[in-house]
Amino acid sequence: MVKYVLVTGGVLSGLGKGVISSSTGVILRSLGFRVTAIKIDPYINIDAGTMSPFEHGEVFVLDDGGEADLDLGNYERFMDLTLNRDNNITTGKIYHHVIEKERKGGFLGKTVQVVPHITDAIQEWVERVASIGVDGNPAPPDICIIELGGTIGDIEHGPFIEAMRQFQWRVGKENFCNIHVSLVPVVGAVGEQKTKPTQASVRELRALGLSPDMIVCRSSVPVAPEVCTKVASFCHVAPNSVISVHDVSNLYRVPLLLMSQGLPGIILSKFGLNSPRKVARMTSWERVAQEVDDLNGADPAKAVHIAVVGKYTHLSDAYLSVIRALQHSAQFVHRKLAIDWIESLYLEDAAKTEHHQEYEDAWAKVKAAHGLLVPGGFGDRGVEGKILAAQYARTNKVPYLGVCLGMQVAVIEYARNVVGLQDANSTEFNEQATHPVVIFMPEGSKTHMGATMRLGSRRTDFVEDKSSVVRRLYGGADGVDERHRHRYEVNPDYISRIEEKGLSFVGFGDSKLRAEIVELPYAPAGSEGGHPYYVGVQYHPEFKTRHTRPSPPFLGLMLAASGQLEAWLDTHSGQLGNKDSSDEETSFSL
Ligand code: GLN
Repeated sequence: MVKYVLVTGGVLSGLGKGVISSSTGVILRSLGFRVTAIKIDPYINIDAGTMSPFEHGEVFVLDDGGEADLDLGNYERFMDLTLNRDNNITTGKIYHHVIEKERKGGFLGKTVQVVPHITDAIQEWVERVASIGVDGNPAPPDICIIELGGTIGDIEHGPFIEAMRQFQWRVGKENFCNIHVSLVPVVGAVGEQKTKPTQASVRELRALGLSPDMIVCRSSVPVAPEVCTKVASFCHVAPNSVISVHDVSNLYRVPLLLMSQGLPGIILSKFGLNSPRKVARMTSWERVAQEVDDLNGADPAKAVHIAVVGKYTHLSDAYLSVIRALQHSAQFVHRKLAIDWIESLYLEDAAKTEHHQEYEDAWAKVKAAHGLLVPGGFGDRGVEGKILAAQYARTNKVPYLGVCLGMQVAVIEYARNVVGLQDANSTEFNEQATHPVVIFMPEGSKTHMGATMRLGSRRTDFVEDKSSVVRRLYGGADGVDERHRHRYEVNPDYISRIEEKGLSFVGFGDSKLRAEIVELPYAPAGSEGGHPYYVGVQYHPEFKTRHTRPSPPFLGLMLAASGQLEAWLDTHSGQLGNKDSSDEETSFSL
């Protein structure tokens, strides 16, 4: 029988429910349990694919092509799991499912209602997902963590809370555990810790028929034992079941904090699972937490500067996985990372007069950077600035990584400035370009926006007889499975002309049909010819980065930017896989 942990949130959003949910998963996994996770987003969109990353944060892409909220990325990275689109439930998906069934006559003439039809559909969905093995393991998970997005009391929550109220009886109360994450504010000159908001939110939850088994009190400082006791007595939970999660120096400390306060014991005793399958090894978390603290405290003058050239770059949630991939790589090579955000529009000539100061600042940052990164993007705004950034990196031998649009931009730049095709462009930006070096993929739809892209995990095969630094970073593999999200691709008609002039196409997908990886021949920094790291990938490697296994193309950028690529290639090629299932870690020091 699968056991369920429901994580709800009270008082206000932004308390870190996602981190607490995934940290719970980390701990349960470390005890040998098979864990899966479901995120419930009560919005009406079917998925996050049509939402602006600048409003909602990045669109995270899953192996099966599901476009999800960035929380799914946090789950995958933290718990080291591979999830599917069904692990993300939205109001839109549930209603869509029920309405489709109604249209097919699936309700036998009944009036279709929120209770029981929507609430049943939610419960069936959860049970179905919880019965599917994760990460290639055919056995169903032991424990399913369900995070209910939003705050108790939200109007949109109604059907989900009611479904979960019923669900605890459906699966049996001994198989259902509710963790409620709440806030203990610290107020006044003496810093009094207040329990009233928590009391109010638990009262609201109980009125809806759910009673927490554990309360996680978020606070800026450790919550005093007597305050925890007070929360326990007012909120009808066992005295040992109130946990304090204060602000910590970095995310990796959260599982350690939960562990130190006995979180697994509380959950396992509720489930009657009295003996864990193995002894938890949290050493990797302790090590990475310490490493991150050490790097944060390191001398800023020694930081490796990576300039990220994008759109609205001050909204960093829009590039969350890119940031994580850079951070994982920096931790791996023991270097402090500084990300310099550059609005690509300000690199363009037009900005010179209209936004003179911004233009000067943007170019100063590009010139000071140890490495440049152009991430994925859509639409023509600021594209010329990105092309200029790619040109700067190529001609000045600054390490460059282009992801998706960043790869297309590198190809356009090369076609224009090296091959001599002056108005080379993508048809995304100029349908009339004389030299359409990037074109719309024929099988896509131009009228429907949701899920019409080439999405999800696709294989890239390395070209047998070409040397490739990217391939070496992937451990010499024949091919790699990475995630995609694009509508445009390099025009195959131009590949040989571009290659003749030196930009190498070293990886292809769909039996050589689609260009996936380009790079300039590698030459260590300071040597003649070649480039210390000039790489473009059509896929999004950032979606599969892990703190123990940083994404290889990002690791390459970081190694090159910190002057360590040559040494790494000499001694460590072949160690980094694209995916492994062990919880053993790799790290290296020079
Ligand atoms: N706009 C480009 C395309 O659709 C790039 C997409 C991306 O960077 N994710 O192909």
